[in-house]
Order: sequence, then structure tokens, then C-alpha cells
Amino acid sequence: MDADEFRKAAHAAIEDIIQYNTNVANNTHPVLPSIKPGYLAPQLPKAAPEHPQSWQDIQPDITSKIIPGLTHWQSPNFMAFFPACATYPSILGEMYSSAFTAPAFNWLCSPACTELETIVLDWLADALHLPTDFRSDSPGGGGGVIQGSASEAIVTIMVAARERYLHRKCDAEGLPNPSPERDARIAGLRSKLVALSSDQAHSSTAKGAIIAGTFHRTVKTSFEDELAVHPDALEATLRKCIADGLEPYYITLSYGTTSTCAQDPLHLLAPVLQNYPDIWIHIDAAYAGTALVCPEYANPPEGASSTTEAMTNGTSPSSQPLQKPTGLLPQGPSILCQVDSFNTNMHKWLLVSFDASLLYVRSRRDLTSALSVSPAYLQNKHTDSGLVTDYRDWQIPLGRRFRALKIWFVVRSYGIEGLRAHIRRTVRVGEHCAKLVTESKDGKELFELVTKPAFGLTCFRIRPDAIPRALVRRSSALDANSTENVETESTMNGSPFGTVEQQDEVAQNQSKQQSLTKMQPTQAAEDLANEFSKQVVETINDQCQLFLTSSSTHGKTFIRVVSGNTNASEEYIEKAFETIVKTTRELFVKVEKEKQT
Ligand code: PLP
Repeated sequence: MDADEFRKAAHAAIEDIIQYNTNVANNTHPVLPSIKPGYLAPQLPKAAPEHPQSWQDIQPDITSKIIPGLTHWQSPNFMAFFPACATYPSILGEMYSSAFTAPAFNWLCSPACTELETIVLDWLADALHLPTDFRSDSPGGGGGVIQGSASEAIVTIMVAARERYLHRKCDAEGLPNPSPERDARIAGLRSKLVALSSDQAHSSTAKGAIIAGTFHRTVKTSFEDELAVHPDALEATLRKCIADGLEPYYITLSYGTTSTCAQDPLHLLAPVLQNYPDIWIHIDAAYAGTALVCPEYANPPEGASSTTEAMTNGTSPSSQPLQKPTGLLPQGPSILCQVDSFNTNMHKWLLVSFDASLLYVRSRRDLTSALSVSPAYLQNKHTDSGLVTDYRDWQIPLGRRFRALKIWFVVRSYGIEGLRAHIRRTVRVGEHCAKLVTESKDGKELFELVTKPAFGLTCFRIRPDAIPRALVRRSSALDANSTENVETESTMNGSPFGTVEQQDEVAQNQSKQQSLTKMQPTQAAEDLANEFSKQVVETINDQCQLFLTSSSTHGKTFIRVVSGNTNASEEYIEKAFETIVKTTRELFVKVEKEKQT
């Protein structure tokens, strides 16, 4: 392809991309593809073409073969996982990055790549209200680096944490470096290292421990503590590890867990961790961390919390429920100066296309001393001068992409105020979803929140007491009291469901009776609520028009609705909610019919 051919092809590709984006925003494509696994191979030749093909031959295959197999993450009906926002300035950044293709592992490989990265990471540290310790010019030698993903950031940090722990311990024991005794001690210690995280943390910590070759243990959480780590539970887990002969070297604390956006309360956990000064504290804020661009998240008003009143669901808390306010940063992110590292993904919520994961460390030496290997062919006078940053020492791969460009373009095109506006708008869309669950007639009748909505994420499930009693009765032998209820209700309904008014009446009678007899929802109803919540999501996803995810923790399975992408809107949330209600009611009828036959 020569320059003229490229010009024509690029113009055509840009038109195609604009058309695609417009279609997706207008919901022209169902959010999920309806193809079957293996759909592509029969449409493509068995072998790569022997002879060159023209762009005119290549481009149409995007529309005919690739788009039918895409899941449209920018669709307003994409409410699954967390968003992965793509924007035009970001796409432009990718184009230039690809054109320059500079795998800038050392400063000299393309000084602009390194220097722009340092600058935009400092901009973002300030924009996110992070402590100045994380800036590249901090006296303590902190700094930021762009990683491909949060998982990559976490495993990189775990390796640095492991090495820091091992060497600190050997230094404290006075073992000379290098020495055979030190090597032997390190080998012995390595087999005992254990990384910690809560049982809600993203799986990347467990995976990181596998890659770092260490154990991983979780700190148990409970709904009573809003799925956040309780200081007593942390202390108990640490003590247990030590009693078992293990060496805790690292902990992930979360600002916005994947399932429910729970936040570990750093201000309550830091005092516990102060007694274990060699443990590396990492904050995984992969999704929610970008909300810190808004002052109301970075410096929440006194007494405010982005989590809610403790939920009382009958499970026993680790001890006393957490003091209020909870949340990772109730006093603002200045407390982050007590942690060793922090990551957040711009490629989730903050308008930069995948991949752009920001990783900040308080001491870059911890990273570089763990990861720096300098064979002769990588040495140069600039590196030797100590005046430049070689980001290869801050990451696992050697080569790296010029990701700073797309961040630079996005930040300049939107301005920090534009980034804030996006976060605030999508949070409002999420709040609308939560309102539908808690305030609409259908919502009140059918669903219950599982956790307080946070960061545009709403987690709810079918209420156990909304499951038709006939189904519950069939599912398990009910106790005498509840059988009585079932009979009453069945008679009143005449059908398992009746009209909405009848159901209201039934619900009122039922709740009166339940409060009289102090009857808890039976386990059968709980199990059905879980099973049906999952089935609702699967049924909806099978229809390809709306994409949701379900999750499960501590005996509750629930529906997650996320509203973070640029095309998210209240209108689509309302339609999605209608679909969830309709599917739930249809599922009740279907299962009832199946049970009868
Ligand atoms: N941490 C949290 C809290 C997440 O929610 C996720 C993904 O959703 C990750 C880490 C992993 O992110 P990545 O895909 O960037 O590795």
C-alpha cells in the first residue's frame, strides 16, 4: 500500500468507523452478536492469501464478517461488566501511536514517548486529587506509568512487593548482599510468602499470586460490612497467616470491587497495617478510581459515604459493623500517602480506548530494583546518566506502546471538566436505575437492592418473597407456618400471579402475616431468588438486545446494571428495566407451567 492508496483507504476506514459509531449509538446493532461459536472460519480461506489484495477487497469484510461477530461495548444497551469507553480523540491517539510504532522501552528509543507519559501521568495524578507523593517530581521518588491493564499493573506490583519484602528481611537480618547465605534465606522465605486481598477483590490478585509464585489468602467480608474489609477480619487473617508459618508481603485493597463496587476503608485498615510495615499496600481502583476526578468523590462532604447503611441480612458480621462513614477515602485521597501503589484504568470509564491503565507508586526504586535487568545491548549513556526514565524497568514486557498520546488527546479534547461531566452524567444514569428498583411499583414488588448503588453500578436481585409461593412450595417442603401462607395466597390469587392489584393485596397480607409470625423467607425462596436472578440475565442476554452480567457472593446472586459508557442514558435504562421486569414475570410463568407438566 503506497501513500496514495493509504490516503484513500484511511479516508474510507474513517468513514466506516464514524458510520459504525453512529449506528452503535443509535442502537442499530443488537448489543450482542447472534452468531454461533466458530462462525468465522467457514467464511475465510483456509490459508493466508498468497497474492496481495487491494483495500477495496479487504474493507467490505469488516461489515460482512467482523461486525456480525462483535459485542458492541459502546452500545447504550451495554450494561454488563464495567464499560470500556472509546472516543474519537482516543482513536486518533491510537492512529498516531501506530504510525510512530516506537516500542519505547528506553528513553532513547523515542524520548517523546517517555516524556509525554511522565507529563500526562503527573497531570492525571493532580486531576485525580492523588497525593503529590505519586508525582514524578515528588521528593520521595514516586511516579506513574501506563500499563496495559489493571491485571498487569497488579502482577507487576506484586513482583516488586515480593522482592522488597525478601530484601528488607535479609537486610534486617544483616545478611550480606550478595552472599550464598542471603540466597538461601531468600529461597526459604519465598516458599512462605502470602499475598492478601478481600474475598471481593478482583481475580487479578489471585492470578498475580500464581504468577509471582506465592500463596494467596482472602479476608472474609460480609454484607453487614457492605462487603468491605473489616479491620478485625484483616487482623485475624494476618495472625492466622503468621500462625501458619506464612509471611504476608502484599495486600490489595479495593476502591470499587468488580461485583458490587465495595470499598475497603483504608482509614480503618491503615492502623492495623501499620503493625506490619513490610506489607506492600496496593489500592486497586481499576474502575471507580477515575471518579476521583470529581471533587465530591475525592473530598466527600463530612459524614458522606459512597457506601450505605450496613445491611442487616441475618448473617453475622466479623464483629462490630464498620464505623460510619465507610468507603475507602472518607477523608479524601490524602490518606493514599499511606499506601505504596494505586492503579486505575482510563480505559474503563474515563473515555480512553483500551488499553490505558494508570499505575502510581510512591517509590519508583521499589519497581526498578525488582525489575531492572540491563544486558549490554540495552545500556546507553542516557540511561547511565540517571537523568532519564526507562519505563522498561517499571513493567514486565520490554517494548511498550505509545499510549500517552491517546490520554493526552482525550484530556485536552474534553478538559478535566469534560471528564468530570462524563462521570457525573453516568452516575446520574445509574442513580436513575437504582430509583427504578427501589421506587417503581414493579421494582418494589419484584426486586431488592443487594448493596448500595455506587459509581453508576446497581446490584439487585429478585426478592425471595416475590417468588410465587406455589413455586417455593414445590421447591421444598415448607414449614407449617409457611404452608399456611401458601394456601392462603394460592386461594386469593386464583392463579399463581393474579393481577398486580391482587398481588399487592397478597403481598400486603403476606407481609402482615410474616411480621405476625416473624417468619423469615425460607431457604427455598432464597435459592429460587438466586437462581431466577441468574436466569433472568441469561434469558435477556440470549436475546442479544441488552447485555447484563450477574454476580454472586455470600449466598446472594444478583443482577448488575452498569451505566458508564458514553451512550448510556436514562431512556435506555428505563427500557432495560422494563425488559428485566417482563423477563422476570415471564420466567415465573414459564417455570410454573414446567412444574405443572
Ligand atoms: N480490578 C478491578 C476492580 C476490576 O473491576 C477489573 C476488571 O473489571 C480488574 C481489576 C482487571 O482489569 P483489567 O481488565 O484492566 O486487567
